[in-house]
Amino acid sequence: MARTALVTGGSRGIGAAISKALKAAGHTVAATYAGNDEAAAKFTEETGISTYKWNVADYAESKAGIEKVEADIGPIEIVVANAGITRDAPFHKMTPEQWHQVIDTNLTGVFNTIHPVWPGMRERKFGRVIVISSINGQKGQFAQTNYAATKAGDIGIVKSLAQEGARYNITANAICPGYIATEMVMAVPEKVRDSIIAQIPTGRLGEPEEIARSVVFLASDDAAFLNGSTLSVNGGQHFA
Ligand code: NDP
Repeated sequence: MARTALVTGGSRGIGAAISKALKAAGHTVAATYAGNDEAAAKFTEETGISTYKWNVADYAESKAGIEKVEADIGPIEIVVANAGITRDAPFHKMTPEQWHQVIDTNLTGVFNTIHPVWPGMRERKFGRVIVISSINGQKGQFAQTNYAATKAGDIGIVKSLAQEGARYNITANAICPGYIATEMVMAVPEKVRDSIIAQIPTGRLGEPEEIARSVVFLASDDAAFLNGSTLSVNGGQHFA
């Protein structure tokens, strides 16, 4: 069934693959971004998917942005909280700024994205909430106390929302990607990247489309009984 979908951070990386896959599945998609206007304009030109700029870390901006999206494409039925950042440092060197930037974007940003659409989903008795967490939220990661804390927190959010939303026909699930070939991962020094790949049983990085296909399934009517789960898409690297 064709529905309306919002994908935060949906014009680049994994989010872009998710936006395109949801569109290919027949849904009407709105994609957001933070400030990379050039990438967003190119994405819209190539895909026909409208892009909207706001900072997910800001509640008022998120709420106003979501109202604009709903005025344009209708009430949001599928929400994919995908926008995320890293600010890595070993804990003893991590600054409060690095801590707060990541918490504000990856954890509070998920609240700010879901909270404005939640009442409408309850009223209409349908919703698909999908949060892009991370393997590092499941297992922790050196120099990522901030990031791992947010991604583990994201799993807590969906497990709780799953219980609150079930009676309203709303499901909430997390996807935990392993290492995926996006700018975020390609920015890691090659030597470090090679050592990461050596730890993946499949022997390669994942492709953004491999995450996108899982999102399409979780968003579908076929996934109605899948609620509160964590889907690990990581090439066999970690089981949770
Ligand atoms: P990218 O860095 O390639 O893209 C991030 C996207 O999020 C961009 O569209 C960016 O906007 C947007 N964004 C960042 N900060 C904000 C903000 N404050 N407000 C609004 N939008 C924002 O990331 P990936 O595609 O690699 O990652 C996507 C998600 O997947 C993230 O949550 C990440 O943590 C998670 N993930 C990624 C993995 C990987 O291997 N790549 C592994 C596991 C999880 P703009 O274009 O304007 O900068």
